Amino acid sequence: MVVRLLSKESLYDFSLDYRPMSEIFPFRYTKLSDVVNYLRCPRKVYFSSKTEEKQDISEAYLKHLLIREFAHKYPELLQDAADKIELVSAMRDRLQELAQELFQIHGPELELFSEAQMPGILREVPVENIASNLMAYVNEHGKKKVLKEISEIETEPIIVSKKLNLTGQIPAIVCLGEKPSPMLIKTGKAPENGIWKNDRIHLAASALLMGEHTGTHPTEGIVQYAAFGSIRKVRIHSTDRRNAINVIKKIEKIKMGTMPERKENPLCESCGFRESCISEPTSLLSRLF
Ligand code: SF4
Repeated sequence: MVVRLLSKESLYDFSLDYRPMSEIFPFRYTKLSDVVNYLRCPRKVYFSSKTEEKQDISEAYLKHLLIREFAHKYPELLQDAADKIELVSAMRDRLQELAQELFQIHGPELELFSEAQMPGILREVPVENIASNLMAYVNEHGKKKVLKEISEIETEPIIVSKKLNLTGQIPAIVCLGEKPSPMLIKTGKAPENGIWKNDRIHLAASALLMGEHTGTHPTEGIVQYAAFGSIRKVRIHSTDRRNAINVIKKIEKIKMGTMPERKENPLCESCGFRESCISEPTSLLSRLF
């Protein structure tokens, strides 16, 4: 269905292409993952343009992948459940299946993990809490409306925009007010209300990328905080799009060789670039950046 909405030029069929991603999308394209990296730490963009980040082998990463995969199933689980008890039961069954499918879906990415780790990870997924929050959202807005909003018309499409010099994979495209719109799936903490500022920029960048090719610029989007079962539908304002464009331009400068100054932050401890980052001094030029 989405092929009608997105031009053929903007959708790429990866099943027919065995080249590495770096060859398919040459260096000059900014990726949505660069935007996410920039928002976490601008210096990550610098190092990721030169080398692959060290594989995250923490159980937290495995849990992140599992919950992200799980979130794609929320619409079908909600569809069939009459109440919270039924939802919890169906969720537990689906999670068990996903725990096995995860290694098939993410194959090479999970080579350093073992399926024996899964029972422990499964116990950590707060199914009751996710189900409570999803049910509360359904009760507030009505099941029909919620299902219409979060049902995916396309899952993880990869879109390229020559005009924006931007490419990337959007977790899902949903239909809001009859318009194809982006839906992000986040596995971190949910804010009390609305969405985090960084997620707003990520969502706007995704909307820009979609809009270039659908011709219908999304004015709304959804961020799912999947580990909490929180669904947040938000407007995408011109300020958000402006901020996203500014971030894309800053990323381009970094990729041209401007290394941002190092600022120790909570992510440094688990950062896959830590060794290079500590050993590479910040240039005088980048202090001015
Ligand atoms: S080690 Fe810290 S400052 Fe360096 S790239 Fe990673 S997160 Fe950024």
